[in-house]
Amino acid sequence: MRIFNTMAARAIPLVPRSLIRQISRRYIAGATLAELIDRVRPLHAAGYRTTIDVLGEAAASPAEVTATAAEYLALIDALHAGGLRAELSIKPSAFGLRFDATGCATQVRTILDVAAAHGVTACIDMEDTSCTQPTLDLFAQLEADGCDVGIALQAYLKRSDSDAAALGQRRSRVRICKGIYAEADAHLVAGASRDRGAINGPFMRQVTNLLRAGSFVGIATHDEALIDALVAWIDRERVDASRFEFQMLLGVCEPLRERLRASGFPVRVYVPYGQDWYGYSTRRIKENPRIAGYVLRAWLRGG
Ligand SMILES: Cc1cc2nc3c(=O)[nH]c(=O)nc-3n(C[C@H](O)[C@H](O)[C@H](O)COP(=O)(O)OP(=O)(O)OC[C@H]3O[C@@H](n4cnc5c(N)ncnc54)[C@H](O)[C@@H]3O)c2cc1C
Repeated sequence: MRIFNTMAARAIPLVPRSLIRQISRRYIAGATLAELIDRVRPLHAAGYRTTIDVLGEAAASPAEVTATAAEYLALIDALHAGGLRAELSIKPSAFGLRFDATGCATQVRTILDVAAAHGVTACIDMEDTSCTQPTLDLFAQLEADGCDVGIALQAYLKRSDSDAAALGQRRSRVRICKGIYAEADAHLVAGASRDRGAINGPFMRQVTNLLRAGSFVGIATHDEALIDALVAWIDRERVDASRFEFQMLLGVCEPLRERLRASGFPVRVYVPYGQDWYGYSTRRIKENPRIAGYVLRAWLRGG
């Protein structure tokens, strides 16, 4: 099966765009703002919160940064016009973090100011380890400037216990996730590259320490055992529902998401959209041979 999936990953460029589009529809709201709003509105009507990610890779030039900033400004306008109090997810590399940290801070600051004026909040995503410290520095600067913004930490990194402690001291708003990038073992907690369950201990510790410190915490995982352990802890410690929320990716583990919402917990859905839907989908499919195998089987069956 693994060999079939690996071959399938190599064959992805041959799969028709229409099939990739069909499969990605579950995980991506669409290419345009209109499609995004059509997907977000029913989520809000059903009682979910959302955070919106504009798809795209790291910017390679100031012109790309300008284009990304324009897309975020149009997004804020569309959310405001639609009466949707959503959150923005912001990847600093899309704003030039890798080649101009000062310019990146200026651009993100502008987006946050416009967002705040329109009742839209924001969270800074965490990218690969080349970005970890620059992203924390950017966040500290934005926070010191009084911006209403949160930040993601990745529980699979060895350094995240101490980063979480520093953020807890400032009562920062923090999203804890396991982490999605392929990193060298030297950066990771023991066993994390082989077994995602090995990240659960640090994840649990960082969420509970941050809640004890007084931070607002986004609990971003689909791991049911981990969620159940955290729900039990939250019940035992009588943590008020205004202090945290669960967060899940669009289209992933929807019954679990619904169970949490129906139990009265706040749940936020991470909703990606944008013109780069094809590049994003094929990169994710290639990275995950199991999805590639599923796509190729669907194609061979005739879509
Ligand atoms: C709201 C949100 C924001 C995030 N922000 C970041 C970020 O800023 N930086 C970052 O590095 N990562 C981010 N991530 C991704 C995260 O790090 C994980 O890679 C991802 O959530 C999968 O890990 P897990 O916690 O669900 O646990 P896992 O142990 O990886 O998965 C648990 C179970 O969930 C299911 N599952 C998980 N992912 C999928 C999927 N894509 N499709 C189908 N089933 C799935 C499977 O059943 C799996 O067995 C974010 C995730 C969420 C939900």
